[in-house]
Amino acid sequence: MGELNPADIVGGERPSIPTLFGRAMLKHCPRCGAGHLFTSWWKMRERCPRCGLYFEGRPEEGHFLGAITINTGLTAGAIILGIFIYIIVLATSEGGGPPVWFVVVTSAALAVIMPALFYPFTKTIWVAAEIWMNRFDSGR
Ligand SMILES: [Zn+2]
Repeated sequence: MGELNPADIVGGERPSIPTLFGRAMLKHCPRCGAGHLFTSWWKMRERCPRCGLYFEGRPEEGHFLGAITINTGLTAGAIILGIFIYIIVLATSEGGGPPVWFVVVTSAALAVIMPALFYPFTKTIWVAAEIWMNRFDSGR
């Protein structure tokens, strides 16, 4: 399977980078903007219902590993930011502020909730990144 430009696929030209990622952040097809790409929160269609883009890309290479990486980065970033804010609150409140267990429980909850919330968005964002990087294979 060769490397193909998405513009080679029937359905047209590659959108601009802001358009690609703007559509992706709305869970829409980055290439054509169509919605309803998911049959449930967890299940993405194999192909775009409008332009036919095959989302699974190259499954033999762990195509959606990039989506998992984005998701992990967002979750870790949010937790680190929360801990940072907690440290600032402790430093400025002279002994007050929330107890440590509150931060631990909140971080643990975020570590479970955020990846679930981000899941479909990171998949469409990764599809946009793949198109942007010209890594889409239209062989199927
Ligand atoms: Zn599409």
